[in-house]
Amino acid sequence: MTEAASSLAPGLYVVATPIGNLEDITLRALRVLGSADRIACEDTRQTQKLLHHFNIATPVLSYHQHNERQRGAELLALLQQGQRIALVSDAGLPGISDPGAEIVQLAIAAGISVVPIPGACAAVTALAAAGLDTTRFLFVGFPPSRPGERRSFLEALRAEPTTMVFYEAPHRIVPTLDDAIAAFGAERRVVVARELTKIHEEFLRGTLGEIHAALNRRELIRGEITLLIAGACPAETASAANAAQQSIQSRLAELKKLENLDEMDALKRIARERGLSKSEAYRELQRERSRKSP
Ligand code: SAM
Repeated sequence: MTEAASSLAPGLYVVATPIGNLEDITLRALRVLGSADRIACEDTRQTQKLLHHFNIATPVLSYHQHNERQRGAELLALLQQGQRIALVSDAGLPGISDPGAEIVQLAIAAGISVVPIPGACAAVTALAAAGLDTTRFLFVGFPPSRPGERRSFLEALRAEPTTMVFYEAPHRIVPTLDDAIAAFGAERRVVVARELTKIHEEFLRGTLGEIHAALNRRELIRGEITLLIAGACPAETASAANAAQQSIQSRLAELKKLENLDEMDALKRIARERGLSKSEAYRELQRERSRKSP
């Protein structure tokens, strides 16, 4: 018998919920949420709004990043008693830049059935309409919020050949695009997908330089944002691989000449490219220079 024709079997149901438009809930998600014994949710108030809208009275309990460990053990005990637990996050798919992965792993390890109930996910929703290559992509999630860490994080993706999908907060999108220009160059194609499935849904498509300038002109940027950056073309991947193999001295000369950087900025860039601190890169440069001098 199919699941649809039977009553809900015991297990953990990982249920996608809308990322804005309530019409994006599936019939199956409504049935599972309505017939589960309990719904574990990231924010009970947020989920209650959804349940209220669809007249669902299933009891809820909170499961979020601050109680994941303790609540995970409690949820596991309920699952082992044969309960049907639905897991939801505030929006989209649980476990995708949201709590969920840990309870899924616990349940699998305990031999409990884990059933995905698919639906909206901002990353793939944005990708489907972005117009960038979709044959392969890398889901990156949120980049680090600290500027230095974010810069190095993006630098490390410089040669990534597939479309990259990021989540980003509206107040950080301009600084992140700034860092993306430093890492990928102003000509790399980018798509900013804002407020997907909502009234003010917007796609900004262009080069990093163009989209950075367009957003920088806005007084205030609101709403939820998924950022997609095209992968490196084969020539860029090859040049990044060459850069990594070059001596620091020759990379330094190249950056000074091609990008007009002064010695200090070029060295900072090289340190980021190679995952070194500035002083390590400087020491390595000194070693190279002393090896070459007679
Ligand atoms: N689990 C969710 C999913 O499946 O998409 C993602 C949760 S993550 C905490 C929230 C981030 O997803 C937001 O900060 C934003 O970057 C992105 N996001 C969520 N809803 C969105 C929307 N309607 N439009 C664009 N991006 C969205």
